[in-house]
Amino acid sequence: MDFELTDEETAFRDAVRRFGDKVLRPNERRIDQEGRIPPEVLRAMAELGLLAMPVPEGYGGIGASAVLTELAAEEIGRGDFSMATAVFFLLEAGWGSLLSRYGREEVKLQVLPRVCRGEAFLGIASTEPGGGSDLAHMRTQARREGDEFVLRGEKSFISGTEEANRLGGGHLTLARDAAGSGFHFLYVPTRSPGVSIQKFENMGRMGISTGSLIYDDVRVPAQNLIGEAGRGFSLAMEGFTIARTFVSAACIGAAERALEAGIAHVKERRAFGQPLGKFEAIQFELVDLYSQIEAVKWQCRRAAWLIDRYTLAGDTSHRSEVDRAVASVKLTAPPTAFETVKRVMMWYGAAGYTKDVGLDLGFRGVMSYMVGAEGGLNIMRIILGRELLGKEFLPYT
Ligand SMILES: Cc1cc2nc3c(=O)[nH]c(=O)nc-3n(C[C@H](O)[C@H](O)[C@H](O)COP(=O)(O)OP(=O)(O)OC[C@H]3O[C@@H](n4cnc5c(N)ncnc54)[C@H](O)[C@@H]3O)c2cc1C
Repeated sequence: MDFELTDEETAFRDAVRRFGDKVLRPNERRIDQEGRIPPEVLRAMAELGLLAMPVPEGYGGIGASAVLTELAAEEIGRGDFSMATAVFFLLEAGWGSLLSRYGREEVKLQVLPRVCRGEAFLGIASTEPGGGSDLAHMRTQARREGDEFVLRGEKSFISGTEEANRLGGGHLTLARDAAGSGFHFLYVPTRSPGVSIQKFENMGRMGISTGSLIYDDVRVPAQNLIGEAGRGFSLAMEGFTIARTFVSAACIGAAERALEAGIAHVKERRAFGQPLGKFEAIQFELVDLYSQIEAVKWQCRRAAWLIDRYTLAGDTSHRSEVDRAVASVKLTAPPTAFETVKRVMMWYGAAGYTKDVGLDLGFRGVMSYMVGAEGGLNIMRIILGRELLGKEFLPYT
């Protein structure tokens, strides 16, 4: 067992950390205030190979492993503490990887190189106004008509709706077959006739939009189908497995950044004649957070390693092990990050409540992964319950 990163992984991770320090940190407040990631930041990401990085070189990516992408996600979560850049990054990495493996050649060539250059956005549209956890009961329908699917329905709380409209691009969209033959997974360009969008006013990660996508008989070419007709549900689940690992990595980066700020502060700030860090009440909290972050980090690296070894290799023999690893880390990484940000805010006292210190960005950004983005915490518990106890213990059967 070797926990050491390869020279290539270390060099790439260091390059992304430098990018985070030099480009993301100085821009994070602006990203939060202006509600978008500046074009020059996206260009810099494209130059570093960070956009949709697992996509193979033939489609414009760098063919990165899940482990390398996980390392990059940590650094981006650490760099832009608001999480907006991390969300942009991880959606394209996770869903770009899926499209590159299961999409039709014409669509891959049409979409992926533009996504990797930062000239289009790629996301996922599964959640509906009626709910995001209980996907099997979704209402959006796709009806096959000759060489097209006709899409009708509504998706909501979808990340990147404005970006896909502004830059170009679209979402991998899960829809029920109108004739009852399973679920189709389709790439739907946002600028297709019949698609309209509505923006939500979020409380955090303001640099990437969240909105509704309303489909009024949208005609989608059959070549935009991902994988086989009627088999979209399991493909979407595979995409979530990958994206949840990168979500967790971004949360770990945010947690590490918060803890570093906390360590610097408790060494400097004095109360009752000594630095705060000398009080056991503070010191013990700090070391508990450190060990939690370390535990989650290695859990996350292992999840990425399992994905490389099995999921991306098309080997389903270890599916249960992969599902358990990913659900465990998505269950623990966001609360660890949120708890760390919250504790560090408290060590800062009143200053922690100001925008000058900047902890508000992480507080609001990480919360999105507590409430549900890429699957709620209870859904991770349900996945783990199913894996540990058996399908007959699913609470809704
Ligand atoms: C900022 C943000 C960005 C998002 N981006 C996207 C996106 O790009 N694409 C997309 O498709 N979706 C996106 N989502 C939606 C996200 O996937 C959903 O929020 C999530 O799946 C939960 O669905 P819901 O919000 O409808 O909550 P619900 O499904 O209504 O659930 C509400 C609460 O009940 C819990 N719950 C549900 N069922 C059970 C159960 N059986 N037992 C116990 N508890 C349960 C849930 O965990 C949750 O806490 C985003 C959400 C946010 C907040």
